[in-house]
Amino acid sequence: MKLDVNVLRYLSKDEFRVLTATEMGMKNHEIVPAELVERIAGLRNGGAYKNMKTLLKHKLVHHDSTKYDGYRLTNLGYDYLAIKTMVNRGLITGVGRQIGVGKESDIFEVVGEDGRVMALKLHRLGRTSFRAVKSKRDYLKHRSSFNWLYLSRLAALKEYAFMKALGEHGFPVPEAIDWNRHCVLMSLVSGYPLVQVKELTNPQLAFETIINLVIRLAEHGLIHCDFNEFNIMVDDTENITMIDFPQMVSVSHKNAQMYFDRDVECIFKFFGKRFNYAPTTAIVRKESEGADEDAEDDGRPVFEDVAGHAGALDRELAASGFTKQNQEVLEQFADVEENDDGNGEDVVSENDDVEEVNGRGFERLSVSNEEETSAGEVSKGGEEGEDRRTDGQSQ
Ligand code: ADP
Ligand code: MG
Repeated sequence: MKLDVNVLRYLSKDEFRVLTATEMGMKNHEIVPAELVERIAGLRNGGAYKNMKTLLKHKLVHHDSTKYDGYRLTNLGYDYLAIKTMVNRGLITGVGRQIGVGKESDIFEVVGEDGRVMALKLHRLGRTSFRAVKSKRDYLKHRSSFNWLYLSRLAALKEYAFMKALGEHGFPVPEAIDWNRHCVLMSLVSGYPLVQVKELTNPQLAFETIINLVIRLAEHGLIHCDFNEFNIMVDDTENITMIDFPQMVSVSHKNAQMYFDRDVECIFKFFGKRFNYAPTTAIVRKESEGADEDAEDDGRPVFEDVAGHAGALDRELAASGFTKQNQEVLEQFADVEENDDGNGEDVVSENDDVEEVNGRGFERLSVSNEEETSAGEVSKGGEEGEDRRTDGQSQ
């Protein structure tokens, strides 16, 4: 995907107002009725309609008249709202090339005022299986506002909170700089994902560093859950950085042991296959009481031996705004995803975010610094349009 941020430069204040009004309406509607957009935007004499035309042209919103005349924000529309906020906060001045595309994210290089190049991760939860969420809506019936904006925003908040807390505990992770809506701004990691590394000068050191990360995480009460060659970055000096945290769970999760073993197994398998490396001694000895001395020791760390107290990082995570309830919602979504049969339409990945080529280098962004009317908080229900507020800070 390409992100033509040029559009940002040309959108008028009223156009942004209508875009934001659409976002607000999406708290309670998948398709926001045209009159509601009009009402929230508070523009007179069909002002919303006029501005909608530009938004439609740039594919920031999508028109839908199947059930009634309405609009919804596209991925691109949501991207622009978040990017504009980052620009207004003075964090970034330009967006460059895409450096990663995951199942549920897009990652771009961005540049700051001082020329520092950073990474911006745009979460796209529900991109692959929003339909499954919809079909299981009963299961999630207490959340009328359960939608892809909300989920992507939660994933970003979680990733930011974990990255920050882990960094503060000395884990090798990117620096968590800021977040807004579904976007996380972080430092750019040099090097490549391990999957692209053909050779290591010291596979043993890399292996031990990596396995020790899984162990140390567990000691801190956490399991990565997606710890594999795609989420481990290696630089020229074979320094290791781990990335990608939205799926992390606590060691008290009901499937904790399985997740832990799976993370460990991924590393053992990959090192065996790619580098023909297997540890000759166990990294963690079985020391727990009652451990079976005679059990065959295959060198794999044992979950019960290393798992620390669940919630050891809770306070830090809560301080970043990520709550237990948020975690529950994401876990419910993960469950729904796992059970998805993969059939049927995917309402989110309709082709609604096609844009023009951004060209090479960084497009300089100059958007108005006026206060943004933001609907950033999509998590709460509430009366439609009740809370039009001016808040450049909302996430
Ligand atoms: P996903 O959840 O979609 O897998 P990741 O966070 O794993 O997203 O990022 C996908 C890819 O983008 C990574 O494999 C890596 O190549 C690249 N990437 C992600 N974060 C950074 C970063 N901070 N610096 C450099 N590259 C990154
Ligand atoms: Mg990944």
